[in-house]
Amino acid sequence: MDTNLTHLEHADTHRALEIAPRIWWVGHVLPDDVFQCHVYLLEQGDQSVLFDPGSRLTFAGTLRKIEEVIPFTHIRYFVCHHQDPDIAAAMPLIDELTDRPDAVLVTHWRTRALLKHYGLKMPFWLVEEHDWRLPLQDRELEFIFTPYAHFPGAIATFDPSTGVVFSSDLFGGFTERPTLVAKDESHFEALRPFHEHYMPSRDILDFALSQVERHPVKVIAPQHGSIIPERLVPFMIDKLRHLDCGIYLFARENTDIRRLSRLNETLREITQTMLLYRDFRDIAERLFEVVARNLPVERIDYYARLDDGAILTLAHETRYSGFTVEPPEAVSGILGKTRAQWLAHHRDDPAMADHTLYDDTFCAQPGERSGLVVTLPLFSPQGEIMQAAALIHLGSEARIGPEETDVVEQIMMPLQVALEREVIYRSIEGERQKAYQRSIRDSLTGLFTRLYMLDVMERHCGIHDRNDSAPIAALMVDVDHFKRINDTHGHAAGDEVLKQVAQVLRDSVRETDIPVRFGGEEFILFLVGASAFGARDYAERIRSAIERRAFKIDSDQQIAVTVSVGAAMRRQFEPLDELIRRADGALYRAKQNGRNRVEL
Ligand code: GH3
Ligand code: MG
Ligand code: MG
Repeated sequence: MDTNLTHLEHADTHRALEIAPRIWWVGHVLPDDVFQCHVYLLEQGDQSVLFDPGSRLTFAGTLRKIEEVIPFTHIRYFVCHHQDPDIAAAMPLIDELTDRPDAVLVTHWRTRALLKHYGLKMPFWLVEEHDWRLPLQDRELEFIFTPYAHFPGAIATFDPSTGVVFSSDLFGGFTERPTLVAKDESHFEALRPFHEHYMPSRDILDFALSQVERHPVKVIAPQHGSIIPERLVPFMIDKLRHLDCGIYLFARENTDIRRLSRLNETLREITQTMLLYRDFRDIAERLFEVVARNLPVERIDYYARLDDGAILTLAHETRYSGFTVEPPEAVSGILGKTRAQWLAHHRDDPAMADHTLYDDTFCAQPGERSGLVVTLPLFSPQGEIMQAAALIHLGSEARIGPEETDVVEQIMMPLQVALEREVIYRSIEGERQKAYQRSIRDSLTGLFTRLYMLDVMERHCGIHDRNDSAPIAALMVDVDHFKRINDTHGHAAGDEVLKQVAQVLRDSVRETDIPVRFGGEEFILFLVGASAFGARDYAERIRSAIERRAFKIDSDQQIAVTVSVGAAMRRQFEPLDELIRRADGALYRAKQNGRNRVEL
């Protein structure tokens, strides 16, 4: 089934049209009417279903279209999603036409309270008495409770077998030039007035949307406007979710209410954002959305002073990774200043002539090419010093009026808090990094510690296990008769020797190899990748470099030092301690065979 409904884009609306398997549009297009009424037929033999039969004005056309598909008497279920006359006024006509005793009017009990005034002989079939489901020949319909504006008992119907939701007034639209299928995102402009006027508040609309969204909706078949194909469904839901509604918003004389409600909404969103999100990135993205709803914002960049005076720059482009780069002049000139200094700067500096101050809390200046750049100075709550700033880049159509000023002022405090939190987080993270660096380096020799070795070698072994052409070799290096050096020249001289041996190891290996201080005067060197193939050569080079080296242990004394080396190549899947054990075995043999030598 083509849920993007391309086959219907140029269809003849004088005929019944199949929008999904066995689901027919049988509505009627009234000329010069912005308020089209769609009626849908679900063909199920003599157990067929008619959704929102319509008004007396359109019923003749609908009846003719139904008869193109099935005899009218095959309809058993008449679903009225709510009680409005454009849905239900045809019911008395239908009641006359239908004489099958099992025909029922399907609705919610609250709707029945009103529809019973038609005095129909057809009985009611209440959704809540049937577990909100209607089993049919080839599918089972599910009813969705979507109370809204004009009646708290409204429902919608979902057909799981096709993904069609018969949404009634939800997703309805007014259009001057009606099309059966919505063409693109611009169709939202038809939805907007319909919902702004009909939905009493956004909370209620949100509730209805969330009920609908619990179902895997593919096609929205509303009672008015256009049918919404699959590719536009998420877009329309998302846009409606952000739509402010309630007829009171249109009371002309009361623009304050409108402004207040907008501000309220902004505040609610900001509060939610601050409660829900910890990460600066998330907060920045969400606050961007809030600002974008009120101003033509292009991007917002953030700057914050760190303890060491460096300036952290957080921008969307760099995913808020926080490079400490030179901030633009608009920022570098103000960070570290007091509010009074900042204000004086605006009054006294002729270069500031094109800046406009708003409530003495933020300022705007023309952008480099076009538009406006708004500078938000962010002060720490305790001090009067400007610790951070946000630069909001606005498009050329930007106008900053009282409403926009309110919104900008509302986001200042949360931004201040979020940035402060970020600065603290970054300094903790910096400390943590330093501590980590300390923990992975041996303080005497500067080589890696065993802790680091375990961590990093696990990863290298994993690579080797997956790929035999990434070999690993271990060289165990041990100073010969080191105890004697200590005993003869003292412990400090011993330390000096260890440092210099470590230096030789560092100088002999590649960037990618891993020299580790394994124990007192024992070192282990891991050669990874290509250099592992030359393990014996490396070992020999190290041994001879140490043998040749004059170890200066103080200003006038130098001694000779030798090492023994045991080397082992890792076998795939060999545990690390086993590899080390084998290298140690080779080292033992090197010692046995007279020291100052290499064994593999
Ligand atoms: P072999 O040739 O068999 O390796 O003999 P050796 O004397 O080098 O071996 P042994 O393991 O008997 O002695 C190692 C000595 O290294 C013992 C210990 O006091 C000393 N040592 C361990 N760590 C340090 C250190 O950090 N600084 C100093 N100066 N000495 C250390
Ligand atoms: Mg030794
Ligand atoms: Mg030893």
